[in-house]
Amino acid sequence: MYHHVKKLMYTVRVGEADPKFGRMLLEQFGGANGELAAAMQYSIQGLNCEDPARKDLLMDIGTEELSHLEVIGSLARLHLKPTKASREAADADPLVAICGGGGVGLFNSQGNPWTADYLKITGELDVDLRSNIAAEARAKIVYERLIDFTNDSGTKDALQFLMTREITHMKAFMLALQSMGKDPLKIGEIPPTPGLVDQFFNDSTGEGDAGKEFRGPWNEGNGFQFVEAPAFKELRDRSGSR
Ligand code: MN
Ligand code: MN
Repeated sequence: MYHHVKKLMYTVRVGEADPKFGRMLLEQFGGANGELAAAMQYSIQGLNCEDPARKDLLMDIGTEELSHLEVIGSLARLHLKPTKASREAADADPLVAICGGGGVGLFNSQGNPWTADYLKITGELDVDLRSNIAAEARAKIVYERLIDFTNDSGTKDALQFLMTREITHMKAFMLALQSMGKDPLKIGEIPPTPGLVDQFFNDSTGEGDAGKEFRGPWNEGNGFQFVEAPAFKELRDRSGSR
């Protein structure tokens, strides 16, 4: 059950409206890493979740994200409002100006409509929690970039609040995943094929302007078998047998 309280989770103040920046803010309103995507991803995962403790977590955070949607929407609205009356401001976002009358719609910064394709929902709790950790990290970095692109102190404050909450969520999701006590490489039920699972294919080889070869813990030690350029294996075998 949802209930709307007539106040924002964080008070939004804007000194001078900046319609171009308002358009950028839409990325966090109706974009891939935005608040609606977060709210829907966690709430729908929660709807499907059979673990009551982590279902509660998903619903807590999913609901908070709806409050974030309201904050970022209000902030974007304040910046985009002048597009209704001023031709110069309207140039910053013709879609908002002409179709929305200066009001925000569920579009990203490029005017692409919000889509459920943004959502990562698998019905496998540990897999979903990983998606959520990554989603929070993406939201964090988008907020950081937005903060860097405005000088308005009220706007910065609201964005700092929203950015901070994403780190809080990331921590909660990380600990929820950890507390499941699952081996991080054990996804689902069917075990991977022995041998094959340990092979690292060196599929990008040689040295040039575009890079060189590197070894690291991702391809040596840790049970890895380093397999030299499988695409050229036949060629190598043939020239070797001559
Ligand atoms: Mn959020
Ligand atoms: Mn979040």
